[in-house]
Amino acid sequence: MAATRETQALDYDAIVIGAGMSGMYQLYRLRELGMKVRVFEAGTGVGGTWYWNRYPGARFDSESYTYGYSFSKELLEEWDWSEHFAGQPETLRYLNLVADKFDLRRDIQFRSRVASAIYAEDTRSWSVTLADGSQFNARFLVTAIGPLSTPTMPRIEDVDRFGGQSFHTARWPHEPVDYAGKRVAVIGTGATGVQTIQTIAKTVGHLTVFQRTPNWCAPLHNSKIDAEAQKKIKANYPDMFRRCQETFACFIHTPDTRGTFEVSSEEREAFFEKLYAEPGFGIWQGNFRDILIDRKANAVISDFVARKIRQRVKNPKVAEKLIPRNHGFGTRRLPLETFYYEVYNQDNVELVDITETPIERVTPRGIKTSDREYQFDIIIYATGFDAITGSFDRIDFRGVDGVRLKDKWKNGPQTYLGVMVDGFPNMMMLMGPHTALGNIPRSIEYNVDWVTGLIRFARESSLTRVEATATGVMAWTDHVKALGVGLLSNEVNSWMTGYNTNVEGKQTRIVARYSGSAPAYRARCDEVAAKQYDELALA
Ligand code: NAP
Repeated sequence: MAATRETQALDYDAIVIGAGMSGMYQLYRLRELGMKVRVFEAGTGVGGTWYWNRYPGARFDSESYTYGYSFSKELLEEWDWSEHFAGQPETLRYLNLVADKFDLRRDIQFRSRVASAIYAEDTRSWSVTLADGSQFNARFLVTAIGPLSTPTMPRIEDVDRFGGQSFHTARWPHEPVDYAGKRVAVIGTGATGVQTIQTIAKTVGHLTVFQRTPNWCAPLHNSKIDAEAQKKIKANYPDMFRRCQETFACFIHTPDTRGTFEVSSEEREAFFEKLYAEPGFGIWQGNFRDILIDRKANAVISDFVARKIRQRVKNPKVAEKLIPRNHGFGTRRLPLETFYYEVYNQDNVELVDITETPIERVTPRGIKTSDREYQFDIIIYATGFDAITGSFDRIDFRGVDGVRLKDKWKNGPQTYLGVMVDGFPNMMMLMGPHTALGNIPRSIEYNVDWVTGLIRFARESSLTRVEATATGVMAWTDHVKALGVGLLSNEVNSWMTGYNTNVEGKQTRIVARYSGSAPAYRARCDEVAAKQYDELALA
């Protein structure tokens, strides 16, 4: 007799894909419901982004204490961040501590890459197949696969023919890499490239940066946290987290209520100077309210930062190359830097603008541009990710009637609250497309709590099937698109608009991110929960 949804014993109540910050917290919360949970993780350890991205100089751009988990007072008390913007090794240590403290590892299966997840209507369950062919099923499937977790190599001829060492920044070896005295190339100047370049420039023999598009960057102004400051941070945690709940994107910074042209030019200049001199994202997230929507306002802040670049880079020709021309300040994710621009004042550093002299191919000895061949010992690819939908594309998700998620999202993601998709019952996405990202852990905690609330409700109500409706998905997708209208960032090619020259079919901009405020996002999700999820199809 075929198993029915009542009689079949499922392997787990829930399967979570990914043991990064969201997967770890989801495991913790589902266990509290008394559920039998399994987390499948491709890596050998916890930490997701902070496990994979071990490239030199990787660190927070959000204040450390705003980034950590807030759910456990004990953890907040126990952990001391050593710097205002912690480096990757420290963050990974922190996440390992969390895994140990809450005994998470016993339900996490490492070295387990999920290949497919297929919904079975007869049992109302998901069957997950790992790359090694093993299969497991569960009532609920929660994806915690991250918006920036599928690295992309550049599409350059003979990219695998290089005879020296080469690394993608998001697949960095666990053993130390020695740059001292070496000839090193970096391709890519996003947030990752900037951190890598400014760090290795201190020790390399010679560094060549291959830049296709310069990005606007601003100083991080990192510093150590002394004992006095540590005490204040801990005493202030409740207020600080409350503030993060109230701000637009869950940072401690939030837009100034004034418009750029509502103040005198002197006041404006002084405000920009103040923001440029302050740590963190203030210049991006705490600037005049219109800099990311009003072209003229954006031109003023862009001009200010361009002047800073010209002041900091001695060679005027190099300075001009480092100033973006095709997008305004902050319309791509702003990399924060520490003496990045000064790197280009070093005699052993060269900036190659590959829009002038394109890379033709990688050779066994280095990189050949239209101008000449460069020889290297190490090539570093800081070329980014197949963002937001990429981590979904590489798992074969199939919902009701075998419909593939990849096909459903062919023209861009369609979601309900960024968490569910019609035709994919009992599947919930954490940090999927169309959710509020911003200061990610703050959004993760909300997202996980919401998903946990829904699963608790389903279990308490003896529901075995929860699904977004097609109308719900259409309404949310339209809402997300409407929110994106007028945002200058949606007119720019970047990972935030799903644009990637290295992935076939991703050369059209899409609205992949929810761009309303985090409080508005939470209010909408809270409303759905308060009405006992009556917008969902429940059975
Ligand atoms: P990214 O912002 O997408 O940058 C990729 C870089 O590689 C760009 O400069 C891109 O040039 C270049 N590139 C890609 N393909 C190329 C090709 N075929 N030839 C030449 N150049 C090529 O990726 P990312 O720097 O890894 O950063 C992604 C996101 O991760 C960030 O925006 C941020 O959200 C997050 N991140 C956070 C932190 C932090 O919190 N501290 C640090 C690192 C990253 P084009 O611009 O011309 O495409």
